[in-house]
Amino acid sequence: MGSVVIKLGRIFSEIYEEGPDGVPEFRAFIDGSWTRSSDGTTFDLRTPIDGSVIARVQRCNESDLERAVRAAKENQRKIRSLAAIDRIEIMEEVARIVRNHAEDFARTITLEMGRAISESPGEVRAVAERLRLAMEDSRKVSGEYIPGDWSPDTVGKVAIVLREPVGVVGAIGPFNYPLFIPSAKVIPAILGANSVVVKPSSSTPISMLLMARAFQLAGLPEGVLNVVTGPGYLGSLLAAHKDVGMISFTGSTEVGREVARHGVGKMLHLELGGKAYAIVLDDADLKLSAAKCVEGAFRNAGQRCDAVSAVLVQESVADEFVEEVMKHVAEWRLGDPRDPSTKMGPLVNEQAAERVNGLVRDAVEKGSVLLHGGERERAYHQPTVLDRVPESAKILWEETFGPVIPIVRVRDEEHALQIAERSRYGLDAAVFTNNFYRMWRVAKALRVGEVTVNDYPRHGVGFFPFGGVKDSGLGREGIGYSIEEMMVIKTIVFNLEPAGLGKVRRTRTA
Ligand code: NAP
Repeated sequence: MGSVVIKLGRIFSEIYEEGPDGVPEFRAFIDGSWTRSSDGTTFDLRTPIDGSVIARVQRCNESDLERAVRAAKENQRKIRSLAAIDRIEIMEEVARIVRNHAEDFARTITLEMGRAISESPGEVRAVAERLRLAMEDSRKVSGEYIPGDWSPDTVGKVAIVLREPVGVVGAIGPFNYPLFIPSAKVIPAILGANSVVVKPSSSTPISMLLMARAFQLAGLPEGVLNVVTGPGYLGSLLAAHKDVGMISFTGSTEVGREVARHGVGKMLHLELGGKAYAIVLDDADLKLSAAKCVEGAFRNAGQRCDAVSAVLVQESVADEFVEEVMKHVAEWRLGDPRDPSTKMGPLVNEQAAERVNGLVRDAVEKGSVLLHGGERERAYHQPTVLDRVPESAKILWEETFGPVIPIVRVRDEEHALQIAERSRYGLDAAVFTNNFYRMWRVAKALRVGEVTVNDYPRHGVGFFPFGGVKDSGLGREGIGYSIEEMMVIKTIVFNLEPAGLGKVRRTRTA
């Protein structure tokens, strides 16, 4: 389909400049300006479509980060003093800009990370929807009135409990939803009257720069939102910065631990790795289960924290289930993600595809039966199905983050639960059954943040809260939930005695 070129509408012309070789150089967004890194260095952004350089991006350094945090700190009062309804109106305006320029956003996602263009508009719509639901977030910025006379210690007093902004929120995002995930941190942070410094993934930084431009055009006060592009260590500097009150991180468990180590003493929200097991029991609707498991494993080429990354099917129905799965697999055509008929594009880079293929080879060496796919070329990994995967295979335990369905034939419900329990991850799981009591029993037994019954897990726009247990994280994200993690409680205690309203304790008789 020819060379890969980023083309954007006029509203984005301020945020980049074409270099002599025609490659656009994007600026960082600090203190309301589109700026170069202080030492003038950039890094090349390569697309997984063909490995070519599609952009140059600022390699920000410690002093740029310092500038961004200072701007955020100094300008937080601007957002704090703005009436909350104005913050909502800004979100509405951003939603309008995102919708009007949806193609620019969707194409950028596809070029940056290789997601099929048939899927990328869904992420853009999700952002617009997230913005539309801002009012739901704002309902959580309320407090409580607590009468004190229920305790002898506080008789005569009342308290009002307020939710206040933490100040500066540091948001660190992964590559796999480059527009939605950082936006889902920025939106509640700003609604809660915080200012924000975002460090997007250096594999996919441009989507967030476009989003910052939308906020700028929507009239967000200068310095309230800052986007610092550059290597991973900027995330740790952000987490360690004394003027950052809260870190909202989404990414791998390993990097999340590093962020937590640097962010000691701060409010932390960690959305980390996942390994969603789909348990298919012998009374399940097998057609439905197979269709859902395939879609749940292959959407976004499996690069989802909530992807179905192993199916534990009861052996008595396994043959029929596998047959149903194979009916769907051929639909997932791998190819150039810019072609609207492509269902699956490349992974984010060649190393990612090689890592996934290493897991497939390991599973086959240990006795799994390869039913479909199994190969990779450059960053493109074939949609792959493995049957009779043994428990010794690494793919059963490690996060796959690629388009593979490993199928394990289990004896019974208990066997499936034992496997799920052994996992270090606890983000999502699915159970397919038509028996209410088994549904309930399995859902209660699984140690995960979210169990989906008769569908594949998907966090979507975040209308339902989600988050991890075990090594999958800390805290809950979602509409109305993220904002609670970005606010601190302040209690104001009133002594009502001077008003003559103090309560009197009864006199005790012996
Ligand atoms: P990653 O490698 O952990 O990177 C995440 C972010 O951390 C990037 O911005 C990265 O910057 C930055 N970073 C790298 N090294 C750092 C350091 N030493 N200190 C602070 N920040 C650092 O994750 P990814 O590969 O982009 O994303 C995939 C992972 O995210 C998977 O594990 C997936 O399960 C997880 N995820 C979880 C959820 C959830 O809701 N739980 C949702 C989506 C994704 P650079 O890119 O510049 O290195």
